[in-house]
Amino acid sequence: MVPLRETANSNMNGSATLDRIRVVLVRPSHPGNVGAAARAMKTMGVSRLALVQPRAFPHAEAHARASGATDVLEGASVWKSLPEALEGVVLAAGLSARRRELWLAQRSAREAARELVAAAGGGGEVALVFGTETSGLSNDDMRLCHLPVFIPANPEYSSLNLAAAVQVLCYELRQVAVEWQPPRVDCGEPATVDETEAMFAHLERSLGASGFLDPANPKRLMPRLRRMFGRVRLEREEVNILRGMLNAFKKVD
Ligand code: SAH
Repeated sequence: MVPLRETANSNMNGSATLDRIRVVLVRPSHPGNVGAAARAMKTMGVSRLALVQPRAFPHAEAHARASGATDVLEGASVWKSLPEALEGVVLAAGLSARRRELWLAQRSAREAARELVAAAGGGGEVALVFGTETSGLSNDDMRLCHLPVFIPANPEYSSLNLAAAVQVLCYELRQVAVEWQPPRVDCGEPATVDETEAMFAHLERSLGASGFLDPANPKRLMPRLRRMFGRVRLEREEVNILRGMLNAFKKVD
């Protein structure tokens, strides 16, 4: 099949960028939705599906709903936890129709697509994280995501079917990816989710040891610090500097 529109400088039809995007479904409960999500992804050239604790996988219903996208379904990776599924990811978008306290500014799907494609186009691994059909993403799940993202839908009925939400995001990503050109600025390597999580654990330990944070009454210090660092989008070298500083402070009386 020939693509409808392809330009000479169209970043190889965006495929190199789209290959660095993984779609993560957290605890999907209906196998049919997993299959339909695989189909939605394939129509937009996104192929990397990751499942965290799927209720049933593999499943005949998933295969039926995937239609011709069984390669995406069969290539899906299965994980015990979200942190494992996000290993190596430099930018994770958490999809939620809801708004919660102490989140970073929510982005629309379109705005998020630009940020995600810029990170993936620059060589980083990025993730779109979707929640379970009944209750969505938990606060713990969202804490691991840099970008809270919503699909601007009917405010009176804003919850899309899981696979429909995957379709909207993959569509937006594709539109941006085919046009994307690298910016002319020098940036360092972005830190991955696992590196920043290790830094937050280090920071929490150090704050506890210094007496600044009372582990029995932590209040909202860590969520606030996470939000502050979340606005910056740390580079790997900066994470190393911060951790080196924490180690150096241990030696100060
Ligand atoms: N009842 C759940 C929503 C389940 S829909 C709740 O109240 O959160 C399944 C998933 O699709 C959600 O977890 C979310 O990742 C995505 N989704 C559905 N509608 C969305 C919207 N309007 N904006 C962003 N994500 C949405």
